[in-house]
Amino acid sequence: MLTLSKSGIETYLRCPAQYYFRYIAHVSGKTDYARLCGTVVHNLIARFHKKGNPKNPFYYKNLDTAIKTWGYDWWKALEENSEIMLSRTKAQDWQFYNIGKGCIQKYWDQMFGKPAPLLIEKRRRARIGQVELLGIFDQVREVPNDRIGHWRPDLIDSNGNLLPGYLPQIIMDLKTSTHDYDLRRFNATAELIKMAEYQFPLHEDLQATAYTYLFQEHNNGMLPLGFVFYYLRYGKLMFTYRTPRDYITLKNSIAHIVGNLDNQSFPKRIGKQCTWCDYISVCRGDRDYLLATPVTEMDLMFGAENGNLSGIPTSVEFKKPTQLRMRMIGTRRKKPLKPEQNQQIDVTPHIRTFGSIIELPFFMEGDDEKKDE
Ligand code: SF4
Repeated sequence: MLTLSKSGIETYLRCPAQYYFRYIAHVSGKTDYARLCGTVVHNLIARFHKKGNPKNPFYYKNLDTAIKTWGYDWWKALEENSEIMLSRTKAQDWQFYNIGKGCIQKYWDQMFGKPAPLLIEKRRRARIGQVELLGIFDQVREVPNDRIGHWRPDLIDSNGNLLPGYLPQIIMDLKTSTHDYDLRRFNATAELIKMAEYQFPLHEDLQATAYTYLFQEHNNGMLPLGFVFYYLRYGKLMFTYRTPRDYITLKNSIAHIVGNLDNQSFPKRIGKQCTWCDYISVCRGDRDYLLATPVTEMDLMFGAENGNLSGIPTSVEFKKPTQLRMRMIGTRRKKPLKPEQNQQIDVTPHIRTFGSIIELPFFMEGDDEKKDE
């Protein structure tokens, strides 16, 4: 059975070609400061909750020790990942050292003394439609009885009890990024409707929907109170919740992806995401990049004057990928196609970029689970 993680779903919906390079061709990925910082912060916070000395609820002796550990982990991660960093400068090394340190400090200040999470970095799987859905919960936390009404007043009955079908728990996802769906940060006088529209992606977010589904499947059909994104840079929680009605969006997305995988459809989706895509060079294939410069003198382009047509794009060479590493999904191997047979399959342009046509893998029973982020 095909396994889809939330990253896999998001990747396909963002750009099918990117999904192909990452999950099917297994082209090596890259990393950048934001991602590396997020990973190291996540790992360290998970270690906070290791069982240790009961006098130290956060495992580390004090905040200073935790910050020192952060520093050690950060510089080590930079060294270990230097070859796959998209770019690296001393200034950014320090900038993200300080961002991570701020996140650790904020978590310590806000969570020290609070009850420990019920679950930390917990992997969950459940079947949905034709696929196995996979997610890794950063944390699941119990909500004290007297705070349930704060999170979900709509779930409290006239006797002050939580409605049946719910557990007093929330799923918490840690974020080190800056986008926190809070329009008031930029526009203090924004109308309510504008603020709500700005938060539309938060309340439709597929990760929150997928994780609510996984929670329910692992808790005998009981729903959590909700899902919280914890923005560590600002020490801010953004709460949302899902109902089974939201599963329609998730199921439709999965059905769309499965159908397209069956049809081996991986078109490029060109957009802003290309500029930070790990696979931009393989996506360009054997052609040089082009670089255009802005033209403001129209006479140079359309008038009678002779001049240097500097606005014409020039080629910029880069190290070309020589070979796309392929790994077939599934247990059954497809016999390689003969060249003439290639004409019969729907070969989208991006897979012609290596001078010869690359055979697309045939999708079958397979498992591609390990890359959830
Ligand atoms: S460069 Fe753009 S089109 Fe190509 S794989 Fe990446 S996101 Fe998709």
